[in-house]
Amino acid sequence: MNTKIAVAKGDGIGPEIMQAVLRIFEANNVPLEYEYVEMGKSLFDSGHSTGMTPAAKATIENLGILFKGPMETPKGKGVKSINVTARKVWNTYANQRDFRTLNGVETVFSKAGIPINLTIIRENIEDTYGGIEHLLTYDVAVGRRIITRPGSAQVIRYAFEMARRKGYTKLACGHKANIMKLTDGLFLETFQEIAKEYPDIETSDIIVDDLCMKLVTHPEKFQAIVLTNLQGDIVSDLCAGLVGGLGFAPSANIGDNISIFEAVHGTAPDIAGKGIANPTALLLSGILMLRYMGYTENAATIENALLYTLENGAHTGDFGDKSIPASNTNSFTDAIIANLGKVPADGGVVGKANMEQKANAGHHKLTENKLTVTKGIKAEMVGVDVFVEANDLQPAELAELAKKRLTDNFDLVMISNRGTQVWPTGSIFTELVNEYRVRFEKKEGKTVTQKELLHIAADFSQDAKVCSVEFLMKFDGKIGYTLAQGQ
Ligand code: NAD
Repeated sequence: MNTKIAVAKGDGIGPEIMQAVLRIFEANNVPLEYEYVEMGKSLFDSGHSTGMTPAAKATIENLGILFKGPMETPKGKGVKSINVTARKVWNTYANQRDFRTLNGVETVFSKAGIPINLTIIRENIEDTYGGIEHLLTYDVAVGRRIITRPGSAQVIRYAFEMARRKGYTKLACGHKANIMKLTDGLFLETFQEIAKEYPDIETSDIIVDDLCMKLVTHPEKFQAIVLTNLQGDIVSDLCAGLVGGLGFAPSANIGDNISIFEAVHGTAPDIAGKGIANPTALLLSGILMLRYMGYTENAATIENALLYTLENGAHTGDFGDKSIPASNTNSFTDAIIANLGKVPADGGVVGKANMEQKANAGHHKLTENKLTVTKGIKAEMVGVDVFVEANDLQPAELAELAKKRLTDNFDLVMISNRGTQVWPTGSIFTELVNEYRVRFEKKEGKTVTQKELLHIAADFSQDAKVCSVEFLMKFDGKIGYTLAQGQ
């Protein structure tokens, strides 16, 4: 029996490359049926602020798999990217992107005979992609970077499972925990915890800037890397560059209930409608989808036909041997279809028989939102950071105002500006902007309530404009906030 999936053709070159891929699927008798859903630019234009119709949302939630073309998010209309919204709303927490050398796609590494075969798993929901940003003063914008224990665990566990499934022996965690000690620190700590459950996988961690350098000098040394969202976004485009560009970069957005498969590239408005777009990235995404759904035999046959086609020099205008005339989307697709059943010179991918279809395996009809909390942790409130706007005050003057608000329970511990301590000690060379952080901590042996801490902030607002407040917490006795630079 055929399995039904939702298909959104997308904008720009989306319909052209989607048609090409589905034609290849059909020629290989892939046992899928498609329910087309309305998403993208035309929906924004007709007033759907989420970029999709309620019917499309219901269909995708019902079927659990969305195969999508690239979509355009109108600029300057204040609407959020439909691509990001879809990933977040449906909790497709792991973004998997496979990068490897493709014969016929020339790169500096292919010319040097260095094979690349690596997978980036990027956390797909959290981090700065929460999009929670505020102007605290006219001069100072801040964004919240949200890294959570359950969110990190979900994607890291997926990365280990994927590594096992693919027969990888190594998994690295890319991070910047040397600077972002609590956010990236939490991600790294979670990686190290979960690693204990996978003794068969050799693990390492690597600071993201060093990772970028090593990827461009020795990409062959990596098998799989898991990263937080923004760093993963950047590193995965870097990897796309290593193997020939975005035209060869597939992507799977995996969740427990809904998964989305799409190419990494956008709608290519400059070539839309010309019939010359390269369908390879969407086809590779489709192959990822077929494997995910258990259609391993179809996936292998189609992948081998693609590899054989590329190896024999067929190419669209955006890549390939310029001495061979470029194919258009249709003739490139025809060539792949004609090559179904052929294998590339290296023997290609060995296809296992299709598994029992698992399209919607794990797909549940939910009745309430899932909420995950780590239990049994002792939380203690120890102080408050009050962020204030001060347009003409030096640190010592602000400290005098803050001291007026102290009670017997608190000390004024420090004042910082842009994260650097400027009171009680600091440097005259530290340049200031008009937002300070003023830190009040409870005295040793005292207990404080949230109400008292809020009172301090409220009282302080009589002297300085309070922009924001963060509470200082300890969890199981460990401090849950960072010290200022120089504190
Ligand atoms: P783009 O990826 O659309 O295009 C960049 C360049 O690559 C262009 O020169 C284009 O012609 C070329 N290119 C891209 N895909 C190609 C293909 N399959 N074959 C041949 N050439 C190809 O990036 P952009 O111009 O920055 O973005 C255009 C639009 O796409 C924007 O509205 C953006 O928001 C959207 N976008 C959507 C997604 C998505 O749906 N996941 C991703 C990225 C960008």
